[in-house]
Amino acid sequence: MKAEIIAVGTELLLGQIVNTNAQFLSQKLAELGVDVYFQTVVGDNAQRLRQAIEIGRGRADLLVFTGGLGPTQDDLTKDVLADYLNRGLIIHEPSMAQIEHLFSSRGIHMVESNRRQALMIEGGEPLENTTGLAVGNGLSADGTLYMLLPGPPKEMKPMMEGAGAAWLRSMLGGEQPLYSRILKFAGIGESTLEAKLLDLIDGQTDPTIAPYAKEGEVSIRVSTKASSEAEADRKIDDTVDKIKERAGEHLYAQEDVPIEVQVIQLLRGSSRKLASAESCSGGLFAELITNVPGSSGEYVGGVVTYTNGMKHHLLSIPMTQLEGEGAPGAISDSTAALMAERVRQISDADFGVSLTGVAGPSESEGKPVGLVYFAIAERGKPTSVHSLHLSGGRSIIRLRAVKAALYRLWL
Ligand code: ATP
Ligand code: MG
Repeated sequence: MKAEIIAVGTELLLGQIVNTNAQFLSQKLAELGVDVYFQTVVGDNAQRLRQAIEIGRGRADLLVFTGGLGPTQDDLTKDVLADYLNRGLIIHEPSMAQIEHLFSSRGIHMVESNRRQALMIEGGEPLENTTGLAVGNGLSADGTLYMLLPGPPKEMKPMMEGAGAAWLRSMLGGEQPLYSRILKFAGIGESTLEAKLLDLIDGQTDPTIAPYAKEGEVSIRVSTKASSEAEADRKIDDTVDKIKERAGEHLYAQEDVPIEVQVIQLLRGSSRKLASAESCSGGLFAELITNVPGSSGEYVGGVVTYTNGMKHHLLSIPMTQLEGEGAPGAISDSTAALMAERVRQISDADFGVSLTGVAGPSESEGKPVGLVYFAIAERGKPTSVHSLHLSGGRSIIRLRAVKAALYRLWL
């Protein structure tokens, strides 16, 4: 079963709203075992909507529309599709009764156009709208399935999850649903990970292995079709074992959680506390850590010491360390180590983490963009310092550096 999502709405084309419905529908369809091959956006224009239907029919078995089921003149989806299929529009009586009841109970005059929301295409099945007025539609015509959903997410989502999914399941019959698991990796770039898994990725058929990078982390989605969750788990476990043989040391979770959540959990488990001293990351480490609910139990706080003066004043790093002839400089392994040690001592935390480097766009202290040092000072242990050579823009460098430090902490 190949599907195409057709989002209808000129406001989408104008960039006034984001097509979040397509994302939601893609996820739901995948869960139902339907492969989405295309996503289309088309304006509120009868001729172009007709074109989109024509193209969609030629390349997909299921067209899922969202938008244009409302009462106004620019809501065309039902009319255009009915016209395209040479079918009439009929009134869905329960929806009509609901619409009339709503208006009369509120004592508001109902304009005629509101009745349009109770229309459905002849031969189709109504899809109940539990949070709005426009009835949805499921339709099978000439070997193609059509599903019509409203545009507002608060109506579209419950319809898709309720009546829409039920209708689709009844039409799909024996197709197996798709199960997937997200594997999260840290301390490794997407291309390096892909290279390590190349033989698996090349030879894959079932389960499929799809790496992708998002928010400074690398994930792999392992997916398979199976008749039960237990069967899917078995198949996915086998593939995960093979992935572990090749890159197991970087795998930190088998669910979609960011590394900072894992770090907080780890610290919580061992009742240990963390503090940070940041330069090039400008507080991003603190930001990510404090985004984790309840992190105040583990994270005591941190400082952003951006200038040499602040590194000296707040962390007592000697100026001779930071500048002048022969000084290691702010961007150095020894400064990173001192920052981590000092913030740990000041806060009496078990771990002090520091980051100092060149986020760009231009070099600093004669050191190249993307060079970042981070250090981890642990109570009673020698401080470890790590250097990174990152590429990308300023925000990516900062994010990757922070994620790398979090990963080291987790290890
Ligand atoms: P209404 O009865 O509100 O007119 P409708 O089914 O006719 O609903 P549209 O008129 O196309 O739907 O869109 C109504 C609103 O729903 C939009 O203004 C927008 O806020 C939201 N919306 C529509 N399509 C999408 C989409 N693809 N992604 C996210 N939001 C959407
Ligand atoms: Mg509308």
